[in-house]
Amino acid sequence: MRNIVYLDKKNKKYKGNTHLHTKWSDGKLDAEEVVERYKDLGYHFLCFSDHEIYTRTNEFDTETFITIPGMERGGLNPAFTTNDNIGFHFTVLDDPNIMVPERYYHLQQFEYPQKWEGDLSVTQCIRRLEEHGNLVILNHPEWHMTAFEVMKQYDFFAVEIYNHATEWSLSTSYGTAYWDYALQNGKRLFAIAADDSHDYNKDKKILEYGGGWIVVDSDKLTHRELMKNIKEGNYYSSSGPEIYDFRVEDGKVKIQCSQVQAIMFKSWPVRGDFIIDRDGSPLTGATLKINPLMTYVRVECIDCNGKTAWTNPIFIKDLL
Ligand SMILES: [Zn+2]
Ligand SMILES: [Zn+2]
Repeated sequence: MRNIVYLDKKNKKYKGNTHLHTKWSDGKLDAEEVVERYKDLGYHFLCFSDHEIYTRTNEFDTETFITIPGMERGGLNPAFTTNDNIGFHFTVLDDPNIMVPERYYHLQQFEYPQKWEGDLSVTQCIRRLEEHGNLVILNHPEWHMTAFEVMKQYDFFAVEIYNHATEWSLSTSYGTAYWDYALQNGKRLFAIAADDSHDYNKDKKILEYGGGWIVVDSDKLTHRELMKNIKEGNYYSSSGPEIYDFRVEDGKVKIQCSQVQAIMFKSWPVRGDFIIDRDGSPLTGATLKINPLMTYVRVECIDCNGKTAWTNPIFIKDLL
């Protein structure tokens, strides 16, 4: 079995939010203010994922902060007039490492709703976005009351497993069951935690900013390097805890993290270990021996408030 390092404690780590809204669509703040608020919170990158309008600008880029081109693409719904809850929203992230003849430009607008022509319309929408050099993430499936079958039907780059906005609004923020369903059915799928913020309500107890994010292992803070590492899965998702190191060494999965209450190794079809000190002593790492029957292993580090950091999956066949 090969040794692979997924997150290296020696590497630089950059924190970002891939899902938010500005005045370019239904957000309350303009892009400049959004950038300032997130910088104050210690973020290194953002994507202005406004509804049906693509953003591509380097006007906010500095040595310590960049924006990634992208948008949120929606309006794809089997029964738009009778039930607009069930449908598809995608976070679309520009990956400059994909060579394509044409890319979307700054403030390019897209039609809404999209014509529904059966299941094929979803595949065609994903393909069109990919053909323009983008990675496609399935957003907030629980909020959209997505059928689990969808996870088998289509190929997404990642699924939002934590969407902060739908936690404080409708308590429908988690997508991990969808993620595991896809993984159990052989899909190669990564995860994303994001804010989906629309307003900065600093006087409210529940803040829209800073609830869910990803942290990317990368040598440099450039659009190209970040997307290369995101595409390879060299990042983790979090609503609180930090992960410093994540690797396979000598047939064992090893993780190091900030102080948490429990560490869960999620695997299939053999259950992984759940590690908790019932006396309440915090954990800062754990190890799991890989069972050859496992097809994937992913790890959740959970603190005493239920805030979680999620690794991307280790696909066991990559190690053979
Ligand atoms: Zn959405
Ligand atoms: Zn959104």
